[in-house]
Amino acid sequence: MSKFLYANDTSATYPPSWYAETSPNLKLRPSLESDLSCDVCVIGAGFTGLSSALHLAQKGFNVIVLDAHRVGFGASGRNGGQVGSGWNQGQQKLEKKLGQDAAHRLWEMTQDAKSLTRDLVNQFAPDAGYNAGVAEACFSDKERKNSHAIASYLDKNYNYNEIECLDKSSLQEVVKSKAYSGGAIDWGAGHLHPLLYAMGLAKAAEAAGAVLYEASLVQEVKNGSPNLVRTVRGDVKADYVIHATNGYHTNLNRNQAAHVMPINNFIVATEPLEYPGEILTKNIAVADSQFVLNYYRLSDDNRLIFGGGESYGTKFPKDIFEKVRRPLTEIFPQLADVKLTHAWGGTLGITTTRLPIFARVGTHQLTAAGYSGHGVALAGFAGRVLAETIAGNASQFDLLSDLPHPAFPGGQTFRSPLMTLAMTWFSLRDRLGI
Ligand SMILES: Cc1cc2nc3c(=O)[nH]c(=O)nc-3n(C[C@H](O)[C@H](O)[C@H](O)COP(=O)(O)OP(=O)(O)OC[C@H]3O[C@@H](n4cnc5c(N)ncnc54)[C@H](O)[C@@H]3O)c2cc1C
Repeated sequence: MSKFLYANDTSATYPPSWYAETSPNLKLRPSLESDLSCDVCVIGAGFTGLSSALHLAQKGFNVIVLDAHRVGFGASGRNGGQVGSGWNQGQQKLEKKLGQDAAHRLWEMTQDAKSLTRDLVNQFAPDAGYNAGVAEACFSDKERKNSHAIASYLDKNYNYNEIECLDKSSLQEVVKSKAYSGGAIDWGAGHLHPLLYAMGLAKAAEAAGAVLYEASLVQEVKNGSPNLVRTVRGDVKADYVIHATNGYHTNLNRNQAAHVMPINNFIVATEPLEYPGEILTKNIAVADSQFVLNYYRLSDDNRLIFGGGESYGTKFPKDIFEKVRRPLTEIFPQLADVKLTHAWGGTLGITTTRLPIFARVGTHQLTAAGYSGHGVALAGFAGRVLAETIAGNASQFDLLSDLPHPAFPGGQTFRSPLMTLAMTWFSLRDRLGI
């Protein structure tokens, strides 16, 4: 069993995040205590698993969801809440690698992913509060020019005209930091409260007929017809299995484990700010152009929710407050004395190409994972793609599962140290400005 699933948390308990504090304290759902059968067993109750369950149940499938901890316990309940446009790969790169046709189809999928997210929030999780606008804040003139060139490329070639380009002073009117030299606001992107979104999806899946079990660790999946999904106190026989464990994967599925590398990312929340307008003057989220990026937004009660810093390996740093305080005060020195009230970390899955992996991993077993920091929109979309595949329409799955995915060098033992070296080099380049 991988160390990631339990290394930094208490079993079946949400981390001490601002999101958990502002979500209703829902009663723990029962764990699986007997042997059951169903059409589809979904492992993992994050956006991928919950959206799969919802869409399958809506189509009339009999669905069981098993999570080792709780609904939205993984990255889905802990993230920066940014519903971004596109993939973690520019469209021009995708065109070169995959050709015009595939690149355009992939772009359309990410557009669809954003509108699906907005629809799901409106229908099932209005309290998650979707707001439009994500800014890219650039440190250097070169990065700003590049950001504007991409906006104009998307406008010309993809008919995407929702990006507002900003020079240094216009960006600084919105983002009150002297660190940046300009950037752009993507009004087609947005942000939300991720744990409330996950909880809304869970309730909607249950209302459609899916049955969710929490505190139900899957220990083994035996391939067959039906597949056998084993937990400590009960087994599920299922015609189909969906592996939706992403960065929290536990080696249940070796294909996913070889291609999806867990990395950790950290967030703090400040006390409510007396003058939030001295940080952001619009209700947008921001991600900056650093390799290990900083990302932030204001909460409804005027806290700055600020993400920054990464680590590789199974353990979070001892003092997350201090780890994130450093980038926070570099960007906003005016917050040097602000009190930080919450600090937490989470684990996400990345791939070598930074494109998610969609794969058939057993006779009737599917997986989608490795959204590489773009999962708030893409994981819910992936859940629907998996549901449609099981229902007999695999056209989107086929395109996505054809994307090339080399495994990480070093295998599961050495990839983390190798990754640490590579990432340290890239962040050093940022610090040195080269
Ligand atoms: C700090 C942080 C900030 C981020 N910010 C953003 C952002 O702003 N925008 C964005 O697009 N993306 C962001 N991401 C990434 C995004 O959160 C993820 O891509 C997305 O939530 C993945 O969803 P998922 O359902 O695939 O996986 P997860 O939400 O991680 O869910 C996996 C679930 O599987 C369960 N599980 C694992 N193994 C087992 C087992 N053996 N048995 C039973 N259950 C099991 C876990 O308990 C967990 O609940 C961020 C991630 C982190 C950690």
